[in-house]
Amino acid sequence: MRKQTVRDAELYGKKVLLRCDFNVPMENGAISDDTRIAASLDTIRYITDAGGRVIMCSHLGRPNGKADARYSLAPVAKRLSELLGFDVPLTEPGGAVPDAQAVLLENTRFYPGEEANDPELARKFATLADVFVNDAFGAAHRAHATTVGVASELPAYAGLLMERELDALGSLLDNPARPFTAILGGAKISDKLGVIDNLLDIVDNLLIGGGMAYTFICAANKNAQIGRSMFDAARLSYAVAMADKAARRGVKLLLPTDVIAAAEPKQGANSAEYPADAIPPDFMGLDIGAETRIRFADVIRKSATVFWNGPMGVFEIPEFSGGTTAVAEAMAESGAFTVVGGGDSLAAVNRLGLAAKMSRNATGGGAALEYLEGKTLPGIACLIDKEEH
Ligand code: ADP
Ligand code: MG
Repeated sequence: MRKQTVRDAELYGKKVLLRCDFNVPMENGAISDDTRIAASLDTIRYITDAGGRVIMCSHLGRPNGKADARYSLAPVAKRLSELLGFDVPLTEPGGAVPDAQAVLLENTRFYPGEEANDPELARKFATLADVFVNDAFGAAHRAHATTVGVASELPAYAGLLMERELDALGSLLDNPARPFTAILGGAKISDKLGVIDNLLDIVDNLLIGGGMAYTFICAANKNAQIGRSMFDAARLSYAVAMADKAARRGVKLLLPTDVIAAAEPKQGANSAEYPADAIPPDFMGLDIGAETRIRFADVIRKSATVFWNGPMGVFEIPEFSGGTTAVAEAMAESGAFTVVGGGDSLAAVNRLGLAAKMSRNATGGGAALEYLEGKTLPGIACLIDKEEH
């Protein structure tokens, strides 16, 4: 990595503003998945062990610039205290910061200046500390007051989690072991245009499933009958161009040849398997079929590097989750360097109990995709560069 990390920072006796990604899923006021909190512990302990004091901040949800109890970080402070084994007080916006080893500031998005990257607000945060450490990879694609603004006020370093996420994604872009296979799925092509384009410069195989596959199926075969499957007419010419690019570059582009279809994405819906280009008019493709699972799994098992973003079907409904399970299992068994990115893909892997079998789970979905598009992320660009020797 070309950025200095918390290991390069002077920490003894210093107050460290640590930007975390505590944007955890909540259900009825309780944290339903604390992966992101657990992932931050290394950096917190590193700083306290080095004699620094940690002042953490994070956003949670979209409170739109107003204090709103529904988006309070109180449950996060409680969970942090349990995990760290000492009390982490939560301080109110503008309130005094107690003299503790580690404290958590209330939701940064309670301030309208956060998302506007207001320099005044950035200065307020900066006056609380001597050093800034950013561990919020998932927010690195946004130029906000606590991700970018504070970096112009304080010496700014990458945290250990940020470093780990960048190393994982960097090793995909920089000399990956081959064959390198990318698997893309999910609903919207429009979210993934840049990633498809950039990945076609790097990968050996591109497997496309999920709702976005149907536009590619139509691009490959003008006469394809996809019924009421998800289809993005405005992106059809883009899909044609990407298929051409794959052919030009010798990238194997694999699309579903069979699918599970039903009249509706509903539990208990009447579903059956059809050729991907012969779906009945009233049906929609909701998962990849048996033959496609075997073809995809075969390519995955022969790969040395695999990146996956986006489920293969409507995996939230058990009868349309088989394709997503097949891909996750093939990755877990492949022995390849495997990276999963994307909120829904990670949720699927977690639910299957396969997260520990993957080499890396990229917690920041949107940021990971922008990074793989080859974009510069503002939250990383503003950190201090490594000295060249
Ligand atoms: P990630 O969060 O991993 O990046 P996305 O958000 O892009 O993934 O896509 C996830 C969504 O795609 C899921 O809600 C899933 O139900 C939906 N999806 C997958 N396949 C289909 C399909 N064939 N038709 C409609 N929606 C689909
Ligand atoms: Mg998603």
